[in-house]
Amino acid sequence: MSCESYDLKAYALGELDRPARRDAESHAATCGSCREEMAALRLTLDSLSTLREEEIPRRIAFVSDKVFQPRWWQRLFNPNFAAACVIAAAILVHAFARPSENPAALNQAVVQAQIDAAVNKAVAQVEARHAEETEMIFSEYDKRFAQMYRTAAGLVRQ
Ligand SMILES: [Zn+2]
Repeated sequence: MSCESYDLKAYALGELDRPARRDAESHAATCGSCREEMAALRLTLDSLSTLREEEIPRRIAFVSDKVFQPRWWQRLFNPNFAAACVIAAAILVHAFARPSENPAALNQAVVQAQIDAAVNKAVAQVEARHAEETEMIFSEYDKRFAQMYRTAAGLVRQ
């Protein structure tokens, strides 16, 4: 039988019946690796048995319990919050302290900014002209309407 067919953990925990126990022992007597495994398991169990017994809590606590709510200064010192602050600070420092890290990219950004400015200026000029034309059309209509009104009023008076 191969090593895998012996349940050494069950053996160490004393869960095997007598024949299976004898089989495992006789295999371990001839197999070095299984003997080692058994020794390691026994050592683990022995060290576990030296641990102090803790009393099981009688009441299950809920995360929503007031006791668990961190105070504001505890939130400030929360490792996640602190880490987030450090990362944010690092990004800011990186952005301001090393702006010319990539000259080509910086140049491209400047050119892009110039293009944007030129486009914005052209758009603003077109919009201004359009507004002017609209204003002229409205004032023209105003004049014509006023003239029509005067004419109509004159006709009524007559
Ligand atoms: Zn073995």
